[in-house]
Amino acid sequence: MRFLIIIFFITTLFGCNTSSLSKAYQSYTTAKQNYIQSILNNNKKQKISSLKNIVECGKFLGFNISKYKKELIKLDHTKKKKYNIHSYKKVIQPIKNPLKLESKYIKVISFYPLKIKLNSKMRVKYLTLIKNNKHYKIFDIYNAKVNKKVIKKISQNIYLIIAQNNKNKVRVVLYNKNRFKIKYSTQNKYLKVNFFDKPISKYRKPAPIKRIPFRQKIIVIDPGHGGKDTGGIGLYGIREKNIVLPIGLDLKNILEKRGYKVYMTRDKDYFVTLPNRTKFANRHHANLFISIHCNIIRGDSKVHGPTTYFLSPARTARAKRVAKYENRAIGNLHTTNQKIVLNFLNKDRIIQSDKMAMDIQRNVVYNLRKYYRNVGDRGIRPAPFWVLVGTQMPAILIETGFLTNKKEALRLNNSLYRKRLAKGIANGINSYFMKNR
Ligand SMILES: [Zn+2]
Repeated sequence: MRFLIIIFFITTLFGCNTSSLSKAYQSYTTAKQNYIQSILNNNKKQKISSLKNIVECGKFLGFNISKYKKELIKLDHTKKKKYNIHSYKKVIQPIKNPLKLESKYIKVISFYPLKIKLNSKMRVKYLTLIKNNKHYKIFDIYNAKVNKKVIKKISQNIYLIIAQNNKNKVRVVLYNKNRFKIKYSTQNKYLKVNFFDKPISKYRKPAPIKRIPFRQKIIVIDPGHGGKDTGGIGLYGIREKNIVLPIGLDLKNILEKRGYKVYMTRDKDYFVTLPNRTKFANRHHANLFISIHCNIIRGDSKVHGPTTYFLSPARTARAKRVAKYENRAIGNLHTTNQKIVLNFLNKDRIIQSDKMAMDIQRNVVYNLRKYYRNVGDRGIRPAPFWVLVGTQMPAILIETGFLTNKKEALRLNNSLYRKRLAKGIANGINSYFMKNR
C-alpha cells in the first residue's frame, strides 16, 4: 500500500513522462486507466490528477485532448493549492560561453555523491518540500532532457528520482523520511550534490532479481451473478448462478494444485455488484480476471457451444445483445460515463485479453471434445462487458454454454462435465502464461 502511495505521488509530482514518445504513450495509457478507475470509484481527486496527465501527455503526443481539457477545467476551477513548497531558492545564473551542438540531455556521472553533467543553456532551480512526512530536495533543470527515468536508492536512507517533468524540464528529487542536509553547486556545467548519509555498503550482495514463475500468478475467478441475481434461467429451470459457481470452484482447485494463487469474487450463493468484482481483482493485483457465465438464447434451441469474450469497445449486434444482458447489474454508472470508459480502453490490455481468450477457448473446446461428441465452438469475440472494463489486468468472460440448448443444459448440469470444462480453462491459462510471462 505504501508503495502504491509513493508511486501515485511520483506520478502526480512528475506528471507525464515525456522523455520519449513511448514513455509518454505509456504515461498516457496509465493516465487513462487511472481515469477509468476514478470514474468507477467516483474519486474527484484521482479524476483531476489523471486528467492532468492525459492532457499533458496528449499535448506532447499531439493527440486531440480538448474534451479532457474542458472537463479538467470544469473540475479543477476550485482547486488551486498544490504543494506546500517551503522555499524557492536562488535561480542559478547562466553559465558563460555557450557552445553550439551541446547535448540537450543531462548525463548522470555518479550517484554518490550525485554529479550530473549539464550544458550551458540549462538553468537550475532548487526547492524543498515536506509532504506526507517525507523530506524532498528538488532540483528543476530547465532546457533539459533526460534519456531514462531513474528511481534509485543512492545511500542508506536517501532515494533519488530523475525524470522528465515537462517538455523542457528535468526534475531531480532526493527524498528521505527524515530531515536531511545537502550541499550543492552548479559550477563548470555540473550539478553536484553532497548529502550526508552513509553509502550503501559495497560488499552487500545485490538481491537476486526474482522472476515470478507463471505458476505463482494471481488469478481472480468471478462466477457470475449470485444471490438475488439468478442470471439466466434455462431449460429444466436450471439457473446460471448455480452452474457457474461449481465451475469456478473446480477451476480454483485445479489452479491451486498447479501452484497459482487464486481468489474468488464469490464462493457461495450471494450477490456481488459488478464494480465490487473488479475492485476485488484490482485490490489483489491479479494477473488475470476470468468471469464465468452461461448463455441463454430464446427462440433458437439449436445454438450451443462455449464462447470466450475479451474486453473491447467493439459493438457487434451479437456482442451487444450478450453484453446488454450481462451488464444489467452495473446500475450505478451513467451512460455518458459508460461511453467515456469505453473510449479509454487500454490497447495493450485488449491485446493481452484477446490472446488469453484465444488460449482458453481453444483449450476448453479441445478438452471437452476428448470426452464428448458434438461440442460446439463459437470462438472468441470482443465485447464491451462492464465487469471487464474496470479491471487493470487482462480480463476475459467465458460463456460456458447455452442453457437453452437441451444437450448442453444437461451437460452443464453434470458435475463431471463441469470439471472437464474447468480443466480446459486451467489448461488455457497455463498455455497463456507459458507464452506470456
Ligand atoms: Zn451471466
